Amino acid sequence: MIDENGILFVLSGPSGVGKGTVRKELFSRANDLAYSISMTTREKRPGEAEGVDYFYKTNDEFEKLIEAGELLEHARFVNNYYGTPRQYVEDTLQDGRDVFLEIEVQGAMQVKENFPEGVFIFLFPPSLEELKNRIVERGTESQDLVLQRLKKAQNEIDMMDAYDYVVVNDDVDAAVNKVQSIIQSEHCRRERI
Ligand code: 5GP
Repeated sequence: MIDENGILFVLSGPSGVGKGTVRKELFSRANDLAYSISMTTREKRPGEAEGVDYFYKTNDEFEKLIEAGELLEHARFVNNYYGTPRQYVEDTLQDGRDVFLEIEVQGAMQVKENFPEGVFIFLFPPSLEELKNRIVERGTESQDLVLQRLKKAQNEIDMMDAYDYVVVNDDVDAAVNKVQSIIQSEHCRRERI
C-alpha cells in the first residue's frame, strides 16, 4: 500500500541563489505538485501578481493571521513578514498531493518541527561571489536592502546542515533534474507493500 498523504517538500537557499527560477522550471515540468503561495507584507515587485507570486498583506492583516493560527510558519525577512497558509498545505497533503514550499531558513525550521517527515532541500550557489553578483544585479532594491540580503545569505548558508539534501545551482536544468530525482526517490522511500 502506498502512503496516501502527499509529501511536503521545502526548498530554501540564500537570496539570489535562484530559488524562484528553479521552482518555476520545476512547476513547468511537474504538474502534479502543488505550490503553496505565501503571504507577505513586502511590496509587490514589477511583474508580480496577487495570488500568483504572493498574497500581499498589510502588517495588521499579517499579524491577525498569526494570532488566528492561520500560518504554518512565519518569519521576518529584511523588515517584512513572510508566511505559509496552514489550511492550504494541510488540505492538499491530505488530498494526497505533494506540496512544495519555497521559504527562507527560519520558516523552514518551524515547518520541520511540525512536519519532521517533510523533505528539506537547500539550494546552494555555485560560489559566494556569484551569489553577490546576482543579488546586486537584480537591482530591484536599494543598496541598504541589498546589503541586508547579503548578510542574511551568509546566515542562511550557516544553516545548511539542517537540510536533507543540498543541490548546487550552477545550471538551472541540472538543478531541476536533481530536485525531480529527490521527489521521485522520496516517493520510492515511502512506498510499502
Ligand atoms: P522575496 O522577497 O525575494 O520574494 O523573498 C525573500 C525570502 O523570503 C526568500 O528567501 C523566500 O524564499 C522567502 N519566503 C517566501 N515566502 C515565504 C514564506 O511563506 N515563509 C518564509 N519563512 N519565507 C518565505
